[in-house]
Amino acid sequence: MKISLKEIIEGQKTLLDLDVDIRLDDEAYLGDEISIVSPINFLGKIISQSEKIFIVGKYSCDIEFICHRCVKHFTKKIEGNIEEELVLNDSEESKTEDFYSINNYMIDLGEIVRSELTLSLPIKVICDDKCRGLCPVCGVDLNTEECTCEQDKIDPRLAKLKELLQND
Ligand SMILES: [Zn+2]
Ligand SMILES: [Zn+2]
Repeated sequence: MKISLKEIIEGQKTLLDLDVDIRLDDEAYLGDEISIVSPINFLGKIISQSEKIFIVGKYSCDIEFICHRCVKHFTKKIEGNIEEELVLNDSEESKTEDFYSINNYMIDLGEIVRSELTLSLPIKVICDDKCRGLCPVCGVDLNTEECTCEQDKIDPRLAKLKELLQND
């Protein structure tokens, strides 16, 4: 989604309010496919201040993840803040630093939000802090079923290690 910053850059305005819904395709994230199941709302503004231009605001959306422990699909609301400087793409900064750039008076808001969102996603996503995961022996979902494998087959000395592995 392209947004024109012409009036900001030319100085007619110092503030541009934004409240937009952005649709993005599903993302590949750390090898897992995640589905962005709602538009991403961005509520914020573009500010021109002391000859610099900033984007400041908040995004939120619903994402469908796969639980790292029990492989169940679940939806979680993801929110985050953006506070970044925007630079003209022919400026010195755009060549040397990692800023979001303005091309032909335009920024790609979808791209900015997408990068910020991907950076903020948790590395291992679990459906619930209390998720018990799958039984490593028989594979049942321990959140919904009981099994007797653990008492029978897991060496008590290894139980502690297993607990640590499940907590990661
Ligand atoms: Zn789970
Ligand atoms: Zn089992």
